[in-house]
Amino acid sequence: RAALLQELKGKENRTRSGRTVNVYANIGGVGDVGYALENDAGGIGLFRSEFLYIGRNDFPGEEEQFQTYMHVLRMMGEKKVIIRTLDIGADKQADYLGLGREENPALGYRAIRICLKQPEIFRTQLRALLRAAVYGNLSIMYPMIISVGEMQQIAAIVRQVQEELEAEQIPYKVPEQGIMIETPAAVMISDELAELTDFFSIGTNDLTQYTLAIDRQNARLDDFYDPHHPAVLKMIRMTVESAHRHGKWAGICGELGADLELTEEFIKMGVDELSVSPAMVLELRRRIREIE
Ligand code: PEP
Ligand code: MG
Repeated sequence: RAALLQELKGKENRTRSGRTVNVYANIGGVGDVGYALENDAGGIGLFRSEFLYIGRNDFPGEEEQFQTYMHVLRMMGEKKVIIRTLDIGADKQADYLGLGREENPALGYRAIRICLKQPEIFRTQLRALLRAAVYGNLSIMYPMIISVGEMQQIAAIVRQVQEELEAEQIPYKVPEQGIMIETPAAVMISDELAELTDFFSIGTNDLTQYTLAIDRQNARLDDFYDPHHPAVLKMIRMTVESAHRHGKWAGICGELGADLELTEEFIKMGVDELSVSPAMVLELRRRIREIE
């Protein structure tokens, strides 16, 4: 079986009827990039930038982040690299952030909420990203979006960062920017959000958690945590349709993207990209190639 999968390297992710889907890899650090390439991923669909912030005593500075992002972009060459901005809080903690204890951390101060409330953290990361964008095929992606207002705030901060870099005569590029769809709110207003963004990437881990009101961390609820729930699948369909109505692309970067029982359904929905763990890239390609 492993040998059969090896033979799929270099082949297209194409169904029998000719539909192609981008198959990218999710990575949690620079060490995973080689693994993504070895498995012939078409790009990085989710680079969880949190690893830069976790397990240390202070924030990573602009230069350190810039070097890391540039390194990954160079390794990936022309292939797309989607870096998600800081998604910390809830299940991902770092003491120096001083986030404190919360009654409901999954519903708490996390991800884009931290970045908008403490914009200096966000600006440092955005400066590093815009600078690194010169060295490859970068896209930026924002996590846990729930409103149009957030999109406007993000756009204003990006503009400000751009002006700063311009004034400082530092080379930069404003790359493609997309959002994660991982809250029911984002799905319900996906038509409005699609106008304000370049792409959607559906985070089914959180989308399932928030749709079903089931803590994704609570093992006791494993029997209830059902990403195949019709409500979750309908949300995915709505998101893809909203994206396409506005000429934008939509992918899935949550665990569900690697669920081979759903691959055919996702393709029928029109999903443009599936981002999965590097170990699943060739398995998914095999599955796509046997679909009519
Ligand atoms: C998700 O929520 O599906 C996702 C991809 O992000 P994370 O698992 O890092 O929250
Ligand atoms: Mg998530």
